[in-house]
Amino acid sequence: MKLDTKMIHAGAHPDPSTGAIMTPIYQTSTYVQEAPGVNKGYEYARSQNPTRFALEEAVAVIENGKFGLVFGSGVAATDAVIKLLNPGDEVIAASDMYGGTYRLFMKVFEKFGFKFIYVDTTDAANVKAAVTAKTKLIWLETPTNPLMNITDIKAIAAIAKEAGALLCVDNTFASPYLQNPLDLGADIVMHSATKYLSGHSDVIQGCLVMNDAELREKLYFIQKSCGAVPGPMDCFLVLRGIKTLAVRMKAHCANGEKIAYWLKANPKVGKVYWPGFTDHPGYAVAKEQMRGFGGMISFELKDDSLDEAKRVLSSTKLFSLAESLGGVESLINHPASMTHASIPREKRLKDGLSDSLIRLSVGIEDADDLIEDLAKAIG
Ligand SMILES: *Cc1c(COP(=O)(O)O)cnc(C)c1O
Repeated sequence: MKLDTKMIHAGAHPDPSTGAIMTPIYQTSTYVQEAPGVNKGYEYARSQNPTRFALEEAVAVIENGKFGLVFGSGVAATDAVIKLLNPGDEVIAASDMYGGTYRLFMKVFEKFGFKFIYVDTTDAANVKAAVTAKTKLIWLETPTNPLMNITDIKAIAAIAKEAGALLCVDNTFASPYLQNPLDLGADIVMHSATKYLSGHSDVIQGCLVMNDAELREKLYFIQKSCGAVPGPMDCFLVLRGIKTLAVRMKAHCANGEKIAYWLKANPKVGKVYWPGFTDHPGYAVAKEQMRGFGGMISFELKDDSLDEAKRVLSSTKLFSLAESLGGVESLINHPASMTHASIPREKRLKDGLSDSLIRLSVGIEDADDLIEDLAKAIG
């Protein structure tokens, strides 16, 4: 089945009790049993909920995986993956990644004896060099947030396999419409469904997709035991969001391309980070493993001062100054003070994330209006 068809029909079955074409919001905590231990497969909603199950099937289908699990947030999904590990186990993670993932690893999990090693994963040799007998998980993000670095998923999957470690890829930035890490050898795909999957900035949610039944059992056990499950209303919203993922992503990609080239040609703009530029260091890999380059763009100003960045950030009208991304409306963000403030400044600068870096989540408005807005703000 072609991708655009899949997005509409993934996980969609008429409701068995009424034939409702849309999966109802099963707003219930428990299910009446016919006799003690005799039930319809539904006992208690932390463990089973039909709306959640429909979404779990949908995310599996659109990521070309066998099993999906959804969580109350993206970080709750990440949290479940780390709980597969034992104290003393080592995780190799991308040095440039979502600040909240870094915070979860360092401020929550490190004290339990997990060891996190950060490397520049754009060069697979760095990952290989960091592997030890204790490596149990490799955590990737590609494209990365906010520097749009590209990592070769296939190359890292080969290293993970040789090391006997799991490979988990945070696929939030690409969305399943542009990239499917399981097809490239990853063991687990993670999404902040808050972003492109929901697409309307109205829900917080995360998901995991995998092929291995045993791994699914372990993660399902963590999901129900730790309890970070989303409510049925949120599952309904993400199910609805996925139906338009294909049309939205096409629009995000087209607008992203126009704006990236416009920024590049602007004399007041310095470096522009977007993986669709042929001179982007990850271009060849991105072209190989992605079906499009997306609507996430970061850029620096020629006047590299914090004040000038703050002036631009406060001047746009259509681009709203906010964290998050992947919604139909355009957002502008300052990683150093917003999404990535939890990463120490020294580490940020070392990773190339300057104080003046501005990140755009390009929405699906008319590109000309968005460019006019940026033109006025940049001045
Ligand atoms: C937002 C985000 C997360 C965290 O997801 P939440 O839904 O906010 O918990 C993880 N990874 C990336 C790349 C993100 O953008």
